[in-house]
Amino acid sequence: MTTYFDINLDLTSEDKLIRDEAHKFAKEVMRPISREIDKMTAEEAVAKTSPVWDFVKQAYELGYHKSGFPEEVGGLGCTPLQSHLIGEEMSWGSLGLNAMLGMAAWIFGKVLMTGNLELIEEFVIPYFQCTDGSISGCWAVTEPAHGSDVLAVGEKFFKDPKIEGQVSAVLDGDEYIINGQKAAWVSCAPTASHCMLNVQIDKTLGLSGGGVCILPLNLPGVSRGKPLEKVGQRDLPQGELFFDNVRIPKRWMFHGPDTYSDSIIGNLGLGNTGVGLISLSLARAAFEEAFKYAKERVQGGKPLIEHYAMKVRIHQMFAKVEALRAMSRAVHNLNSRVDPPIFEYAAAAKTYCSETAREVIEEAVQIHGANGLTKEYFIEKIWRDSRALTIEDGDNSALNRMGGHFLKDTFPRRKVNQLF
Ligand SMILES: Cc1cc2nc3c(=O)[nH]c(=O)nc-3n(C[C@H](O)[C@H](O)[C@H](O)COP(=O)(O)OP(=O)(O)OC[C@H]3O[C@@H](n4cnc5c(N)ncnc54)[C@H](O)[C@@H]3O)c2cc1C
Repeated sequence: MTTYFDINLDLTSEDKLIRDEAHKFAKEVMRPISREIDKMTAEEAVAKTSPVWDFVKQAYELGYHKSGFPEEVGGLGCTPLQSHLIGEEMSWGSLGLNAMLGMAAWIFGKVLMTGNLELIEEFVIPYFQCTDGSISGCWAVTEPAHGSDVLAVGEKFFKDPKIEGQVSAVLDGDEYIINGQKAAWVSCAPTASHCMLNVQIDKTLGLSGGGVCILPLNLPGVSRGKPLEKVGQRDLPQGELFFDNVRIPKRWMFHGPDTYSDSIIGNLGLGNTGVGLISLSLARAAFEEAFKYAKERVQGGKPLIEHYAMKVRIHQMFAKVEALRAMSRAVHNLNSRVDPPIFEYAAAAKTYCSETAREVIEEAVQIHGANGLTKEYFIEKIWRDSRALTIEDGDNSALNRMGGHFLKDTFPRRKVNQLF
């Protein structure tokens, strides 16, 4: 049987089936919904009438929100390669919609990894059992006054007591009381039922004196800002979160200052690996659009693709997409199988794949000529969607600085805890 060619000839028939089903869902459900949402205001995009909910419902019914989790705990038990194949196809369908699913899987996955049975019972099991999309997640770390700062493990200023986070958690008996505000950039804040929240616990340790908790967003004292109007990724909503004397049980705080820096690195390790993957998908989508256009558009009496210079440009794009796939798959495979994920590789995948994807996408626009700048052509949306790749989940230059800090201590020898 031949379906799509893949450079890995060892894909099993199950791998191909999983990939092809994800592609069908991406093409028939995700792309049309994503394009529809792209034309809406940010408020319309998250309203009850928005088609985003059709996507969420269908994705949960198919189990895509738990595909990468082991069967023993209620997931679909996909291998790292299978979850990469699903991720590539679904982000090809829509980077934003797939990121919405990824956010939820990420935060409940983090709770699962604590191994705390009480928390797993309370939060993770209901998420796995959810089939209507009503349980979903966001990660709130960025603050109005702190972007790169809050991720800057390894920088001297991260421990400077003069720099203080804007969301505090103070212990009061068996509860924490949370106050403050997170930035308008928290993905899925307008839609999520639950939040993984980074807070300031010990101010004497500066930004390193943090904690991480999980909480439902319907608690008294939690409120949300208006959905953010932004360029691109308009199907991935962002918004502020406000906390006014919000009380949570102490057990929901699963990281305190002692493990806080490790938790940031662990989150970036998985998140950056994911941005490497979505960069690949977007670059591939752009390559396909450019290739199609080059076959259709006639100049000098023949299709663009028949001109020698165009063949070279198309092949250079193809080579970059394959290089992105190779790197992203390798890092995804690695970081799915070690705990904690290896930050240097994740940051390398994120920075390299996002920058190379943007090169591919720029070239795809150029191949479309002026048409590439109009909403008539899909490449215009891909271009807008791609702009955030080098900023989201950590600005690339900040990640390169952090990667350098890590390499200094770990290269060429690195101890890892291999899970399987
Ligand atoms: C689409 C999208 C989705 C996002 N989703 C989320 C989310 O789900 N949750 C969340 O919490 N946040 C989210 N963010 C926020 C994101 O994590 C931040 O935008 C990112 O960390 C960069 O912070 P910043 O935008 O405040 O830029 P800043 O940190 O202010 O950086 C601005 C510029 O200054 C440079 N700079 C910063 N610090 C230094 C330094 N020490 N030395 C030298 N140069 C420096 C940077 O390189 C950059 O060029 C999202 C952002 C986007 C665009």
